[in-house]
Amino acid sequence: MSVMSPISPEASSTNVTDSVSLSGRLLDSLRSDVMTGRYPPGYRLVERDVADTYGVSRLPAREALQALRAEGFLEVRKTRGLVVRSWTERDVSELFDIRQALEAMACREAADNRTDDDVAALRAAVVAADDARDATAAHDANALFHQLLVTASHNRTLGEIMSPILFRVQWLVRQIPDPHTVSHDHHEIVEAIAAGDGELAESLAGEHAERNRRTTLEAMFGAG
Ligand SMILES: [Zn+2]
Repeated sequence: MSVMSPISPEASSTNVTDSVSLSGRLLDSLRSDVMTGRYPPGYRLVERDVADTYGVSRLPAREALQALRAEGFLEVRKTRGLVVRSWTERDVSELFDIRQALEAMACREAADNRTDDDVAALRAAVVAADDARDATAAHDANALFHQLLVTASHNRTLGEIMSPILFRVQWLVRQIPDPHTVSHDHHEIVEAIAAGDGELAESLAGEHAERNRRTTLEAMFGAG
């Protein structure tokens, strides 16, 4: 499970900022615990249990569960209430279609709009994934790399639309047993962006997303 630092007395005050950051931190912890499989598909998440497990009151627990549902991680089942969602092959394909289109756009724009800091951060994420000692650390670095691609586009609307999509993609991509297989693609994409070659960055991103889709589907549903 992800570690959520104990809630300090200030956090339970009525201060709005504290309450928002508490819900946000709880959302991050819950999302991470779904992504890493602590709560598998079909697992029932009850407001009271969440409040007890993470040491928060019912209101932030309710808010975090609703936010996680809005991000597509949970679904309502008639007889069971709110559960971790299950994926069909078609669901996965639809998600990857959208990811492929938007990420190609992000990479094209990143090649035009990236700063030196963006390029440095992207390269650092690729190196961190290469140097990672276990699969979780490599997956984390890869997830960061994909977030940074959107950051480097400097397209705020794209960032808002892609945030929940990327979280869901990362959840699924974590089923891939060897996260290092994407290293070559990531190196190529970052260098195309650094060189300001939007066309190349866009086509590399599209190919990468396609390879990623096949590997993920294979990991989730077997070779087809
Ligand atoms: Zn990737």
